[in-house]
Amino acid sequence: MSYVTDLRHIPEDPAHIQALPEPARLMSVFITSIVAELSRELSLPLINTDVKCHSRNTMSRCSGCIDGWLNPAGVLVWACDSCAENGFISNWEGTVWDNQVRTTH
Ligand SMILES: [Zn+2]
Repeated sequence: MSYVTDLRHIPEDPAHIQALPEPARLMSVFITSIVAELSRELSLPLINTDVKCHSRNTMSRCSGCIDGWLNPAGVLVWACDSCAENGFISNWEGTVWDNQVRTTH
């Protein structure tokens, strides 16, 4: 399954995330964890994160981790290393989860 997330739609206030319905809360935590990890390592062509895949079938939860990269359009692309779960995250720059190291000029 493929997900397209506009990070502007996720509240930056942790209290607001906590107040979301469970599926939306879990997805918000999942997506923002990916942004926090990927944005630290953007110079790499492929970034391995410690974020666990959230995919599950009736038998078990996927044991894969999320890999990702920044595409030329500035969109974060992520994909599970074990299953077909993947997605795109836009408008993540400048959010509280953006961990890019900014160089001062
Ligand atoms: Zn997976």
